[in-house]
Amino acid sequence: MCGIVGYIGTKKASPILINGLLRLEYRGYDSAGIATIEKDGLSIMKDKGRVKNLYNLPGIDDLEGTIGIAHTRWATHGKPSKENSHPHVDNSESFSVVHNGIIENYNELRKFLTDNGYTFYSQTDTEIVPNLIHYYYNKDENDDEQKILRAVKNTCKDLKGSFALEIISKYDKDHMIVVRKDSPLVIGKGDGENYISSDIPAILSFTREFYLLNDLEFALLSRDDIKFYDTDLNPIDKKVQTIEWNAASAEKEGYEDYMLKEIHEQPTAIRETIGAKLDEGTKCTFDELDFTKDYLKGLHKIYLVACGTAMHAGLAGKCMMERLCRIPTEVDIASEFRYRDPIIDDKTLCIFISQSGETADTIAALKLSKQKGAKTLAISNVIGSSITREADYSIYTHAGPEIAVASTKAYTSQVVLLAMLAIYFAETLEESEVEVLNLKKEILELPKKLEETLKCEERIKAFGHRIYQEKDVFFLGRGIDETVARESALKLKEISYIHADSYPAGELKHGPIALIENGITVISIMTDPKLVEKTVSNIQEVITRGAKTLVITNQDVDAKLFDTVIRIPETDSFVSPILSVVPLQLLSYYISKEKGLDVDKPRNLAKSVTVE
Ligand code: GLU
Repeated sequence: MCGIVGYIGTKKASPILINGLLRLEYRGYDSAGIATIEKDGLSIMKDKGRVKNLYNLPGIDDLEGTIGIAHTRWATHGKPSKENSHPHVDNSESFSVVHNGIIENYNELRKFLTDNGYTFYSQTDTEIVPNLIHYYYNKDENDDEQKILRAVKNTCKDLKGSFALEIISKYDKDHMIVVRKDSPLVIGKGDGENYISSDIPAILSFTREFYLLNDLEFALLSRDDIKFYDTDLNPIDKKVQTIEWNAASAEKEGYEDYMLKEIHEQPTAIRETIGAKLDEGTKCTFDELDFTKDYLKGLHKIYLVACGTAMHAGLAGKCMMERLCRIPTEVDIASEFRYRDPIIDDKTLCIFISQSGETADTIAALKLSKQKGAKTLAISNVIGSSITREADYSIYTHAGPEIAVASTKAYTSQVVLLAMLAIYFAETLEESEVEVLNLKKEILELPKKLEETLKCEERIKAFGHRIYQEKDVFFLGRGIDETVARESALKLKEISYIHADSYPAGELKHGPIALIENGITVISIMTDPKLVEKTVSNIQEVITRGAKTLVITNQDVDAKLFDTVIRIPETDSFVSPILSVVPLQLLSYYISKEKGLDVDKPRNLAKSVTVE
């Protein structure tokens, strides 16, 4: 959600900034802009619409500045418009700021500044920031080199909410200041130049060396140096971190869209996520975890908390935890969990799942659980992300960068990691030994079986062609298959804009069957031998009422009963979501393509939801 880029060096900043914004486009945005320091002061170029429109703004080619900040906005306060676009400036045009996040007390601060003679030209919460910096700068009687930094620090002390901020000033042509709280921002170290970005892939082609800031730490960047300070501006040391991904892995590698590439990357993502943690002959190991048998035995409850697709991975995790460890497990949507006064104490383990590790609601839910005395464990795909810095423990999926807004490989990687976590808990608890041994074998075979599953692509594409003009599609399943039904309905909604709903198959008769009419599409998933007959009966009920049916299964079903049956490799239903979801990811993809939609950047959605 929203993107931030910054550059300080010896080259012309504007093309580097625009190029950086283009690489952050996948995060979703409605406006774009840049600010540079020119000979005669600050220059601001911005407008609503796409980043590439910036190239057409008059005067953009004449910019010479070698220091600048840039932003793609995802509007929270005020409609998408030129005035509301970032960068913003203070009334005297001395300070320019870009901001990702929400200033919650902006009304109060806006009133304070208005009372002090400031005027506001936008409806954003952000515009108070450069003006407050100006206010503190003017009040400060010391004229030393830390004057701007002090003004920024005093401003941040007044702000409530979340922010990643980049600040430049016409008073200092050789420095840029950045600070963050609950919003993403990374610093890339170059040679005689330094970079800022909301995430690592956007600047990976410039550098592999990064610094990460904790909440309310400040960085003062010059061309060949970066100084770090704590909340009270005491100097601190930071270690540079080297990233091992290659820049090419963030590109499309010949696929038409990132989503298709990422669907096909799932065998590798699962292989890498399994890594060395799991082997048939040894106990499952998580070096990052030190849970004892006594601690796990004493647990009253596990909460799995997340949003969207990650929450659906949590639903699969619940089935796994309860089946193997016999610990009651609840799944919660983060934005609900945090406001429903959940029952949490030191006998509760709270697990938070977020691909980006920056999901605002999930981070807030984590902070709440910590306050209430629970141990917290984060599952993320991004090393050093906010959620992993907040949690007591963190474990990682190794899916590599996921660019398409609709999550695919991150979901299956989360499910496999949860399966391994359940095994690790069961082994620590000395529970279900024989079952665990079988499940380990199943997990190790998943990458190969995924390759096999992907062969259904042409048949799924053909089914997609038959139904791409439909208005409603229903997904059904029982047990762990129902969690896949939910995820598949979400995927279809996200990228094809077709209304899709999912139900536990047994629930159909209690209401939703009223919606079944001639020609409607009903998709079902059947991977659990104990439940397959029951689900088949439910599907027969919809066939009788004229439904078209697609079945995803690894069970022995009578193919003649259904319109299309996609057979996936046999596996224990414990891990079947990792295979059964794949044909349905492909179905959503091909329906979206048939409809001529932007698969990777669906309307209204953002990759990393950093606002509540
Ligand atoms: N709240 C700010 C605005 O609406 C920043 C939004 C963003 O993170 O892009 O302008």
